[in-house]
Amino acid sequence: MKQSLITGPVFEYHNRPGHIECYDRLRAITAQLPEGIPVRAPVAAADEDLERVHQPGYLSWLHRQCAIHSEYDTVDEYGCTGGYFTGNTYVSGFLDENTYINPRSYEVATFAAGSAIAATERALDGESCFALVRPPGHHAASDWAMGFCLINNTAIAAAKALTSVDRVAIVDWDVHHGNGTQEIFYGNDRVLYCSVHAEDFFPHSGAVTETGTGAGTGYTANAPLPQKSTIGDYVHIFSDVFLPLLEREHPDLVIVSAGQDALVDDPVSGMSLLPADYGTLAGLLLDALDLPPAFVLEGGYGPSQPAAINAIFAAVSGKRSSGPVPEPSAGARERVQMLRKLHGLR
Ligand code: ZN
Repeated sequence: MKQSLITGPVFEYHNRPGHIECYDRLRAITAQLPEGIPVRAPVAAADEDLERVHQPGYLSWLHRQCAIHSEYDTVDEYGCTGGYFTGNTYVSGFLDENTYINPRSYEVATFAAGSAIAATERALDGESCFALVRPPGHHAASDWAMGFCLINNTAIAAAKALTSVDRVAIVDWDVHHGNGTQEIFYGNDRVLYCSVHAEDFFPHSGAVTETGTGAGTGYTANAPLPQKSTIGDYVHIFSDVFLPLLEREHPDLVIVSAGQDALVDDPVSGMSLLPADYGTLAGLLLDALDLPPAFVLEGGYGPSQPAAINAIFAAVSGKRSSGPVPEPSAGARERVQMLRKLHGLR
């Protein structure tokens, strides 16, 4: 299958050294990319693309919050404000305790979203494409920023695709539940959202019973897994829940919210995936759907993330893992049973 990737130096400008979601994580990925995959330049999303997903008032507020920081000359050498009082207003470089901004952040976020759109356009054209972008997006909802995310790259790409196709599926394997993506499409019957994530973990949403609302009922599938889950558990969720749902839905496009923070060496979570396991998951999607996926980078903070991304590229090239897969845990089996019942899979 043809494939390409999108990345570029613009993503360096949203940065805060020492923060876990800093440019170094993308630098580590781009320093270890496999040979021979065409690299496409990032593109910015248009306002109308952003406004399909986010409320205009939120976007103007976010833009202003980033701009405010350019009005002060105490911006540090990294382009970040540190947080200080001016008059009676506390001016901070953070929108919440972990989501930082700087004067370039809004612009960079529009490039992340536009590049996610471009990746889906490549996928619709028959070429799998990985948007290696940041800041990540899946915690950003229609009118709030959260969890390092300012605007929702994957949702914006899905919404744009829906202007030309009927149905889109989003598979979110980031270890955190994509609460923003879920909120944006919760009542939508043209977007199937499937998320596997750690239970009882940030952002503390994504229960099995959250399945959608109104016309969107049944179009959200959440598989929370206990910490220390292995590829055996993930394969069980994919094979017995996500893939049957995807096959039933017949999407025109699959977007993977690709956060590789369930790796065993990731500092933020306690899952037990190995780099090759992400190739296994990508291979399952590729073999079940015969559609070139668009991948959009979400989280992933550990030293083996570049290897996991290389395993995804290898899977798109046709490589399949032949190693044994561990048996699923009792917890994963229970999740699968509940999900199959809730989603009418017999
Ligand atoms: Zn994450």
